[in-house]
Amino acid sequence: MNILIFGPNGSGKGTQGAVVQKRYGIPHIETGVIFRDNIKNKTELGNMAKSYIERGDLVPDAITVPMILKRLQEADCKNGWLLDGFPRNLAQAEALWKALEGAGMKLDDVIEILLDRETAKKRIMGRRLCANDNNHPNNIYIDAIKPAEKDGKLVCRICGCDQLTARADDQDEAAIDKRHGIYYDTNTGTLAAVRYFKERVRFLEIDGTPGVREVSSALLAKLPHE
Ligand code: AMP
Repeated sequence: MNILIFGPNGSGKGTQGAVVQKRYGIPHIETGVIFRDNIKNKTELGNMAKSYIERGDLVPDAITVPMILKRLQEADCKNGWLLDGFPRNLAQAEALWKALEGAGMKLDDVIEILLDRETAKKRIMGRRLCANDNNHPNNIYIDAIKPAEKDGKLVCRICGCDQLTARADDQDEAAIDKRHGIYYDTNTGTLAAVRYFKERVRFLEIDGTPGVREVSSALLAKLPHE
């Protein structure tokens, strides 16, 4: 299965992506994670991407598009992939579609998690990262995934790690507004990319407002059994 997942920052897209990954046993490819790993490891790609990410701007397509197309050619993608965080604009959507056609690859499903802008913003600002595993979901504003407490300190609700941090770009309101401005832009931004696929591929819309578990159940119910 080759799948794209869309949703504004803060919609729980990463968490729900993990659910999809588990259902089909395919790699969950997150552009944001790839960039952050590269920044952490001080690679050439990381150095190029850093300033854009800190400002909440998109990393230029000339860097992002080849990086993703290369990733989709790797061995673990042979039986499918779940792409999360890409495409982010209409130009990336067109480039992906063209590259898939060229490689004889079919896009099976596109998922869109719907969430209004205000709620998404609040959820971003509450997000906390666990030092052991960035995929351990913790959010101080969402009851279902609130960090646990130990000796008066917040700890990861999955592994108990006491090093919970907030991403710098998650606490910067101007950067969040910029990211959401790109997402909710229906002319050339991410919602334009969503519309592009709506016209071409089987499309699953999921309401992102309920709690994590409800959204997961709704998603699992809609996902086709291969
Ligand atoms: P995310 O973790 O998805 O919020 O991504 C964090 C940051 O990485 C974004 O704000 C962008 O600066 C950059 N980024 C992620 N995906 C893309 C993409 N498809 N195109 C350009 N920049 C991206």
